Amino acid sequence: LSARLQGFGTTVFAEMSALAVATGSVNLGQGFPDYPGPPEVLDVARAAIGTAADQYPPGPGTPELRTAVAAHVQRFRGRAYDADTEVLVTAGATEALSAALLALLETGDEVVLFEPMYDCYAAGIAMAGGVARPVPLHPPAGGVGTWTFDPEALRAAITPRTRMLLLNTPHNPTGKVFTEEELELLAGHVLEHDLLVLTDEVYEHLVFDGTRHRSIADVPGLRDRTLVVGSAGKTFNVTGWKIGWICGPAPLVSAVRTAKQFLTFVNGGPFQPAVAAGLALPDAYFTGLAQDLQYRRDVLVQGLAEAGLPVISPEATYFATVDVRPVQPDGDGLAFCRALPERAGVVGVPTGVFYDPEHAHLGRHLVRFAFCKSDAVLGDAVERLRRL
Ligand code: PMP
Ligand code: GLN
Repeated sequence: LSARLQGFGTTVFAEMSALAVATGSVNLGQGFPDYPGPPEVLDVARAAIGTAADQYPPGPGTPELRTAVAAHVQRFRGRAYDADTEVLVTAGATEALSAALLALLETGDEVVLFEPMYDCYAAGIAMAGGVARPVPLHPPAGGVGTWTFDPEALRAAITPRTRMLLLNTPHNPTGKVFTEEELELLAGHVLEHDLLVLTDEVYEHLVFDGTRHRSIADVPGLRDRTLVVGSAGKTFNVTGWKIGWICGPAPLVSAVRTAKQFLTFVNGGPFQPAVAAGLALPDAYFTGLAQDLQYRRDVLVQGLAEAGLPVISPEATYFATVDVRPVQPDGDGLAFCRALPERAGVVGVPTGVFYDPEHAHLGRHLVRFAFCKSDAVLGDAVERLRRL
């Protein structure tokens, strides 16, 4: 393993999913739905297989999908992006993020981001020769409300070497939706220090209780220095399709495209028309998706609470967070997750793995559970958690 990748062994998702299979446990670890996507989307993919769509699509993505992405952004954010020059289709959000980091960072450039953080960020920054400068998010007191950060810690993380802010809202693993005020505070630093912004918004539609997702790209002055990443995986329950996209000003998108050309060149031929059809679904599809997940969140949050685990109910995403200390006196979330298949037949993911090792103690006692699961599976999980 190269020096750049030291410390990035196997992802925790692989370890925990393998543990779930080996022990016959209910897998609430890796965040993927166990129910299908909308038939309007699946049918288009089925029909595309066996046609010319099986061959290499155009490098930046099919014109049809790029136009659909731009129209979707216009509909939900009210902003215009040029489908030819400001939209790029990628192999999932993961490639959009890696390609953007590879395209925009020089060796030693620093990236400010919040932790806990989705696991591909630290590795993506390291592969691009950059340096991550994490700012901790703190759980809400008593488990109620949103996660917060210390504005002074943010200020202190920005140095003359800072090149980029990497934001994720709605946020994995916490389920936090950054508020308008927080985005404005961040935007102030971005403008003052002349930074680029890479914002991962793959959970844009999975927001609950009337909370509103905002893109930092829409704060005045930021559009032309911000790349916004989206993905079909979460919005259409097709995480294995790996169709993502990135939108931003033409020079930045062109740079990302240069990197993408040599990572995968193109991807997902028959899935591109299907995702284009999905992005054009009526508003009711997207609100229905959120309502359905909100119900699943409530089932799991209640089940976890009844199992004696203090829960932080998320504002968005697929994930709820618990404090394991009442049932794991040493407060070790990783040990709890490794023993949970034996103790209760359930798998979760320790939140500690989403931190820089130096700060992992901040999330040591926390564990993330996914609720994007069918009624039967959630019911079974809640039943099993009672054994704790
Ligand atoms: N960003 C976040 C915050 C995620 O949670 C995920 C996937 N779970 C991704 C990116 C990756 O998305 P994709 O599967 O489209 O690569
Ligand atoms: N994003 C999903 C999660 O956080 C899946 C991640 C993965 O398997 N790489 O669980």
